[in-house]
Amino acid sequence: MKLVLATRNQGKVREIGEILHAKNRIDLLSLSNYPDAPEVVEDGKTYEENAIKKATVLAEYTGHLTIADDSGLEVDALDGAPGVHSARYAGENASDQDRIVKLLEALRNVPDNQRGGRFICAVAIAKSVDQVRVVRGACEGRISHMPRGAGGFGYDPVFLPTGYDKTFAELGDEIKNQISHRAKALDRTKKLLSEISPDKR
Ligand code: IMP
Repeated sequence: MKLVLATRNQGKVREIGEILHAKNRIDLLSLSNYPDAPEVVEDGKTYEENAIKKATVLAEYTGHLTIADDSGLEVDALDGAPGVHSARYAGENASDQDRIVKLLEALRNVPDNQRGGRFICAVAIAKSVDQVRVVRGACEGRISHMPRGAGGFGYDPVFLPTGYDKTFAELGDEIKNQISHRAKALDRTKKLLSEISPDKR
């Protein structure tokens, strides 16, 4: 079975591939295999809306079962920001580092016990525009005062998952992929996949 990951983010392709153990069971493609695929504007008000839009547009385009995720970081002291706007938090062409600098600046005077937040991930799996399911996962934690670690991507260097004194970037993929928001949502996705295609797991 061919399964398309509707992303060009190689960090996500690697993580999602590892979590789904897709190499052995599924012929996994990503948008790198579809250079002319349409750009989907993520203008939904929720993670679910964006994930469903991406998965359905790309399922129609590729003709294959397609998985899309939308994720973000919600910080309590910032009333849930950057949230669904996490990717554009520091402007359209900003880097991961720009976003981290902006976040740490916004939390500069916020003490440890008020730096709580969570990563959220919605994953949609679509066969077509009217055959789509969506699930969600969350990972609680807090924001560190300084970036630490070289692994992962995005806000990983400043996110301390609950129960750990290390950031996602320090913990590395193996631990991150057991506890992350994306791992939880993809675990639920695996169940949906087995319902959609029970013989291919
Ligand atoms: P999107 O899901 O591609 O729209 O990304 C949302 C934003 O959240 C991007 O800035 C990502 O880098 C960030 N993000 C999503 N998931 C993670 C994660 O697992 N670690 C760190 N940052 C993440």
